[in-house]
Amino acid sequence: MGAPEAFTHTLDVAHWIAGALHPGHGDRWQTVWNPATGQAARRVRLAERADVDAAVAAATKAQPAWAQLPPIRRARVLNRFLALMNEHRDTLAAMITAEHGKVFSDAQGEVTRGIEIIEFACGAPQLLKGDHTEQVSTGIDNWTLRQPLGVVAGITPFNFPVMVPCWMFPLALACGNAFVLKPSERDPSASLLMAELLQRAGLPDGVFNVVQGDKVAVDRLLEHPDVAAVSFVGSTPIAQHVYETGARHGKRVQALGGAKNHLVVMPDADLTQAVDALIGSAYGSAGERCMAISVAVLVGDVAERIVPLLAARARSLKVGNGLEADAEMGPIVTREARDRIEAAIGRGVAEGATLVVDGRGLTVPGPDGQPLAGFFTGGTLFDHVTPAMSLWREEIFGPVLACVRVAGLEEALALIKAHAYGNGVACFTRDGAVAREFARRVDVGMVGINVPIPVPMAWHGFGGWKKSLFGDHHAYGEEGVRFYTRQKSVMQRWPDPGSQVGAEGASFVMPTAR
Ligand code: NAD
Repeated sequence: MGAPEAFTHTLDVAHWIAGALHPGHGDRWQTVWNPATGQAARRVRLAERADVDAAVAAATKAQPAWAQLPPIRRARVLNRFLALMNEHRDTLAAMITAEHGKVFSDAQGEVTRGIEIIEFACGAPQLLKGDHTEQVSTGIDNWTLRQPLGVVAGITPFNFPVMVPCWMFPLALACGNAFVLKPSERDPSASLLMAELLQRAGLPDGVFNVVQGDKVAVDRLLEHPDVAAVSFVGSTPIAQHVYETGARHGKRVQALGGAKNHLVVMPDADLTQAVDALIGSAYGSAGERCMAISVAVLVGDVAERIVPLLAARARSLKVGNGLEADAEMGPIVTREARDRIEAAIGRGVAEGATLVVDGRGLTVPGPDGQPLAGFFTGGTLFDHVTPAMSLWREEIFGPVLACVRVAGLEEALALIKAHAYGNGVACFTRDGAVAREFARRVDVGMVGINVPIPVPMAWHGFGGWKKSLFGDHHAYGEEGVRFYTRQKSVMQRWPDPGSQVGAEGASFVMPTAR
């Protein structure tokens, strides 16, 4: 494979409303950076309330006809969209690398995981099939069906600009809803390409809309009377705000929040596999994944054996521009995020943790040998971290791995239970009984046994526990179908003139099966 083609557009990133680019009403902009070069690459519009209103109005107008289409015809549109997404997979991946910074092969993986949800959504006719009971009482049948909610919105984070929107809109559309996406303002470009591909696939204008923006757009979506439901993915404080505000305005809300994922290494684990798992899941995508491992829980004598191996690997990580074929880790998304991560490392040192590998102040040479001005930091490793430290309590969302030493499985389970977050967790062991006990008892929504990042496949649904998810539906899978539809129950009787059925006269008692 040749070098990927860089995404170098300098055009302003606009909204997409009623099937066309839309300049918006106001004049607020935000710079979109290329994190590898540190240069301002383009600008994105920040919506005013009127832009959100225009997008919701377009969606409200288009939704009834879309919902009226037989599910198989909606699925055919999604099938064509699926083919277009596959065709443009590398273009989308290049956009992600250009604005997020993650390495290109990782960006390709992100797009593939998004595409899998579209594949699942193409099964809409089967997913929307209801239940039917013949003869719930003599001459009466009862069935349930699921109908769309109307206009639904999705608010997404910077760290998966293609995959996380795809957790939401393919299923929402398959179920007959119209959709308004509010992508992250830090990497907004991919949203417009997906909008264009949906249009080329035959989606009627107005069924899918994009408003670029910040808190102004989010808050308008949360209070808009014509938005029936909101899916959110992002940090916990904003997830809680979205959940509470949306619920106060009568909306159905699912709000996925932050994480602090633990990987437990039992003394009998295969250490080579455990090291590979920890290095890949702590430093992959520069730790900017909600399923990144940020705490290694080292049981018994494991710490003495594994910390030197982790240190050697953390020191030799290949950090560079994500477009370079051999880069293992790219830059951090923005200068502010990089500075915040390095400040968290400083706090960890001040709190008394042992800094084994310090990634701060890393310089990365560019093609001319001069240091790149991008937002780089190296892989950082701490040992002797305790639950009293911010290094354990807080989500850093960067390439920082904290090692906590514990005596046994019980202490590991108690440590994980005590954490405020409960997104993902993993246990590395060769003992089936330990694995089973761990998976059953651990207080976390997604569990990996000898699998470091257990992101469920499209048909299983994704979601954490505790402060990692507000609401009661996980994203995608059958949970997603339930979230984007409401159940209707129909009970039907056709009186038969030749029989007594339906001719009982008025009844004043609670009806029961006869
Ligand atoms: P963020 O919370 O800053 O932003 C998420 C979205 O909320 C963006 O669209 C943003 O524009 C909007 N937003 C930001 N501040 C807002 C405010 N004050 N009011 C209303 N809206 C606001 O998150 P981020 O930095 O883009 O993404 C990283 C976070 O997302 C991490 O905490 C990560 O763990 C989390 N995340 C969670 C999952 C999951 O599945 N649980 C998946 C991906 C990312």
